[in-house]
Amino acid sequence: MDNFSYPKSVEIFEVGPRDGLQPEPEFIDTEKKIKLVNMLSDAGCKKIEVTSFVHPKWVPQMADAKEVFANIDKKPGVVYNALIPNMKGLEIAIECGLDEVVTIMSTSESHNKENLNRTVSESLKEIEEINKVAKEKGIKIRSYIATVFGCPIEGYQDPKKALDIALALESFGSYEISLGDTTGMANPVSAYKIPKMILSKLTKASLAVHYHKYFGLEHANNLASLQAGITVFDSAAGGLGGCPYAPGAKGNCATEIMVEMFHRMGIETGIDLDKIYKVGEYAKSLSTLLNKEN
Ligand code: MG
Repeated sequence: MDNFSYPKSVEIFEVGPRDGLQPEPEFIDTEKKIKLVNMLSDAGCKKIEVTSFVHPKWVPQMADAKEVFANIDKKPGVVYNALIPNMKGLEIAIECGLDEVVTIMSTSESHNKENLNRTVSESLKEIEEINKVAKEKGIKIRSYIATVFGCPIEGYQDPKKALDIALALESFGSYEISLGDTTGMANPVSAYKIPKMILSKLTKASLAVHYHKYFGLEHANNLASLQAGITVFDSAAGGLGGCPYAPGAKGNCATEIMVEMFHRMGIETGIDLDKIYKVGEYAKSLSTLLNKEN
């Protein structure tokens, strides 16, 4: 273990405006959400998960999804995408003119049922359909697999479940698959072994990791995944987030600290460190959840 070679640059996928704000209990003004997205693109973020086209009955915080998407400054070279929980979400994304959407499902039957009200195999079928329709419309699909490193209901998951789902998603046409540590249960060993094993089996899709906070362990997990060959990392400015269907879930890995880590290591992110710290402060100012967490 003495000669790791690191990439010159990594890609950061910013999830703050969606994954970060989604569980916030108090409605955040549309203008503030738009400002957060614009600050992120100004700081150099190239991929931003802006919102979610989900029924407001399930996620009231995202009730202004169309308005947010329509009013952000669309900077050339930046990909603005949205999470879609189902085919209905894709239809809205098509109406709103998105170039890219994100799908989600869990390895855990119980979590998938709670989160999406579907079995794992029903979700796979639906995402296959979503991929078909998206392809016809020229929309790219990124796919999350949640609970890969552990489920708050079922506990640690057999990595083979994540592998099987990843291979299925790749075969449907998803261009990137992100392995989610939904409630911060990963450790540097699983964060090395699981992505490495899945990376070795994928032939077309790229692989990302998505760690949630656990008192700093998230950064160790990112480093372990980097050492396993991962070069795409999800994070949220200010460490915003949680999971509305996973009690006790903490926020996402904070973008600014991750950028600080990579820059100190001599790895480029394309993100301005001073600016992303300011975005992190702004993001935190929008949150009531983070204040409760500390
Ligand atoms: Mg997350």
